Amino acid sequence: MKIAIVGAGIIGVTTAWELASDGHEVMVFERRGAAAEEASFANAGVVAPGYVTPWASPGMRAKVLRSLLSSHGAVKLRWPLSGRDVGWISQWQRACKLETYLANRSRLQRLAFYSRSRLHEISEARELSYERGQGLLVLLRNHRERKLAQPGLDVLRAAGSTFREVDADEARTIEPALAASTRLAGAVYLPDDEVANCRQFALLLKREAEAIGVQFHFGCDIAPLQRSAPSSITLAAGSPAIAFDAVVVCAGVDSARLLQPLGLRIPLAPVYGHSISAQIREPLNAPRSAIMDERYKVAISRLGQRVRVAGSAELGGSLDKVHPAAFRTLYKVLQDWFPGAVTLQNGVQQWKGARPMLPDGPPIIGSSGIRGVWLNLGHGSSGWALSCGSARVLADQISGRSAEIDLEGLGIERLLRH
Ligand SMILES: Cc1cc2nc3c(=O)[nH]c(=O)nc-3n(C[C@H](O)[C@H](O)[C@H](O)COP(=O)(O)OP(=O)(O)OC[C@H]3O[C@@H](n4cnc5c(N)ncnc54)[C@H](O)[C@@H]3O)c2cc1C
Repeated sequence: MKIAIVGAGIIGVTTAWELASDGHEVMVFERRGAAAEEASFANAGVVAPGYVTPWASPGMRAKVLRSLLSSHGAVKLRWPLSGRDVGWISQWQRACKLETYLANRSRLQRLAFYSRSRLHEISEARELSYERGQGLLVLLRNHRERKLAQPGLDVLRAAGSTFREVDADEARTIEPALAASTRLAGAVYLPDDEVANCRQFALLLKREAEAIGVQFHFGCDIAPLQRSAPSSITLAAGSPAIAFDAVVVCAGVDSARLLQPLGLRIPLAPVYGHSISAQIREPLNAPRSAIMDERYKVAISRLGQRVRVAGSAELGGSLDKVHPAAFRTLYKVLQDWFPGAVTLQNGVQQWKGARPMLPDGPPIIGSSGIRGVWLNLGHGSSGWALSCGSARVLADQISGRSAEIDLEGLGIERLLRH
């Protein structure tokens, strides 16, 4: 089949790779000048399938309210809030019901575990070498946090994650540079989880995809799809339509706008996050792999010669309006745990990105219900961790093959049921 993909983030690139591996003729259209320039650019890089759970969960409403009131809280509402954001919040609240949460959690985790093994298969088969670190350490600052972590450990157990609770001394053995002056009650160590550079992987896989025939077209802003010819694409600036056998929409937060003329109302909202990346000054003072500060929901990742600190969840506002408070929290958490690890005087990359979030958690992967239009979107806070598996199961569906995992609840029907 001749297939167009809109979007060259991590989801578009992995989808292109899988479809071309199946023998399809694939063209990728991307409005930016390179792959992985938007949400996939500077994320935390954490691949931890047991921690891939919906943000819509019982008890989350109270946590969000507390966070809104705290200066270093991870969740913030920004002005202006659009009608779409308000609608998204009410759908999110409905999805916090226990049974909805449990169903979405198992859908996400099934996909996340599969995705991690697919990531490893591709990396080994293609001998891809990118910045990565083995193991995730979730830090619990006091005994209350240790207690509050227990339900999360039940989730990890149920998911079959390998983990162990460690005391502060063992945590400091695993990550010897953790500052002694910051109080640590204990940690959860997940040795099989990892951190890896999403953008670097996307660029390497793009090259592999090109080698098997995928054509990437950059600087192509694609117009919303049209009812009269849904699997044809045109440029937003105007151009003759190019017809394909299939179009796959992998356009991150912009996907909803592209699909709207087809009558598809996808409740996607941008939930903004931030990261800073800085050069390591003294490797002995830097993390070895990935750390998650459970109190501030901030990840600290070692990516080669840099440390990346990422977190925050802002609904409302816009991508280009930056609130310095979000970065202050990242610097604070870095300073708490790894003072002196990086050079902060110059060359720090500060980044704000938009997670393409659906209100209930899992992405939408599969047919749109409209002939020739396929979806791989809405991966929210875990698009890197879910990318390779999502791409494989979408390619299986397009080729009419059964996927290796149960796809129940990952299709668009889930949202239409509401
Ligand atoms: C602070 C932060 C930390 C994160 N940490 C993690 C983490 O640790 N682990 C994890 O798994 N995930 C993490 N994520 C989430 C992850 O980054 C996203 O889920 C993922 O990057 C989404 O990939 P995507 O390809 O769907 O979107 P994008 O990377 O945004 O790609 C979509 C692409 O489509 C293009 N596009 C859009 N519209 C058009 C159009 N009309 N025409 C042509 N091209 C178009 C865009 O330019 C873009 O390149 C984090 C996100 C943030 C913000």
